[in-house]
Amino acid sequence: MSIEKIACHCCDLVQELSAIQPGQKAHCSRCGHLLTVHHTGGLDTPMALAFSGLVFLLLSLPFPFMAFESQGRVQEVSLANSGFDLLQQGFPLLALLLTLFILLIPALTLCTYLLILFTLRQEQSPPWLYRLTRMLFILHPWGMAEVFLIGVLVSLVKIAGMADIIIGVSFWAYVLFALCLITTITRVDPAQLWQKLDQIAGIHRKLPSTEPGSALKNQLQSCHHCGLLHPLDTANCERCGSPLHARFPNSLQKTWAYLITAILLYLPANLYPIMNTTLLGNSEPSTILGGVLVLWEMGSYPIALIVFIASIMIPIGKMLALIWLAYSVQHGHQHRVSERIKMYRLTELIGRWSMIDVFVVAVLAALVQLGGLVSITPGIAVIAFAGVVILTMLSALSFDPRLIWDSLSQEEMAAINRSQVPLNDLLDDLR
Ligand SMILES: [Zn+2]
Ligand SMILES: [Zn+2]
Repeated sequence: MSIEKIACHCCDLVQELSAIQPGQKAHCSRCGHLLTVHHTGGLDTPMALAFSGLVFLLLSLPFPFMAFESQGRVQEVSLANSGFDLLQQGFPLLALLLTLFILLIPALTLCTYLLILFTLRQEQSPPWLYRLTRMLFILHPWGMAEVFLIGVLVSLVKIAGMADIIIGVSFWAYVLFALCLITTITRVDPAQLWQKLDQIAGIHRKLPSTEPGSALKNQLQSCHHCGLLHPLDTANCERCGSPLHARFPNSLQKTWAYLITAILLYLPANLYPIMNTTLLGNSEPSTILGGVLVLWEMGSYPIALIVFIASIMIPIGKMLALIWLAYSVQHGHQHRVSERIKMYRLTELIGRWSMIDVFVVAVLAALVQLGGLVSITPGIAVIAFAGVVILTMLSALSFDPRLIWDSLSQEEMAAINRSQVPLNDLLDDLR
């Protein structure tokens, strides 16, 4: 890896990434945030994984995903038709969310990876490849293939007592697709990919001379997308073209706006039924908490616990964490810096897992449609709950963690810097 200076995404400390060898990773010397991983194996491994993932995704579309059999009647569902089934039942928003999060975005992510890696392997790095790489990293948090699979497992437990469930070929193809997608993402490091683009294009970026400290203190700003450092008066990133800002514009206002809307939506999401089960003409609505209690009473304790954590604990915990982060920054709090940074990272990482319950309802509504015998329809709360998850994700994405450090006094900052560990000591062997 060539020498590069980057500012930490979490605390803005400028650091040099020259000493990292293949197989090592580097963490920020001040806040511990993972700065880069230097993978061994080059471009071929992630390219093969992305290609295999796409093949598995194509195989998962035409065949049955699952079938539901009760008293001689069979209802089959395929991934390609699941969105269409929900649309026909009169739930266009749920159909759109399902198609976007489990099919379109993951497929687009893999196609983009494949195109970028293939072009780089041809020793080419045209300007459009930079824009494509920027788009790829914007898409990342919104692909939810693995969250969907957990949702499918929960659905299976929920209806196991009602009828016979047949797992189709598509299900296994989708599992392999999700595995390939996750492995491709973990095998490509963003900092390394941006460097590779420059290296192949033959561009040598000028390293700014810096004093120890934050990028802002050095009159620099780092690109939100590619991390390249620029002087404060530069309007657009010279590498990826994104508009530049020293801090996210109106970060706190956006964080609060998304958060307050999420809190408001959380009430209907819990008070109204998330789905209605009609068994032999009797319709029974169930709320999120009601669903957890039913699973618990059925004796499916691990699944009840997963749904309870994903649907109740994570959204509440995430909203409380965001309130604490935004409030403490707004009031210039100086204490518990490392706890707040850890809380921010956790919030960023786990938010999407709350989508499990939305996927459970979507799968059940598409699958369990046996007319008067048994049928499941989504309740109004599912849209409100999906709104809560999306809005809390947007709220976390709008929060700029560097603001936590900006409000620290000189003494506070010096105390943290005294405990700092040299970068080389934090280079771990990956294997
Ligand atoms: Zn840091
Ligand atoms: Zn950039």
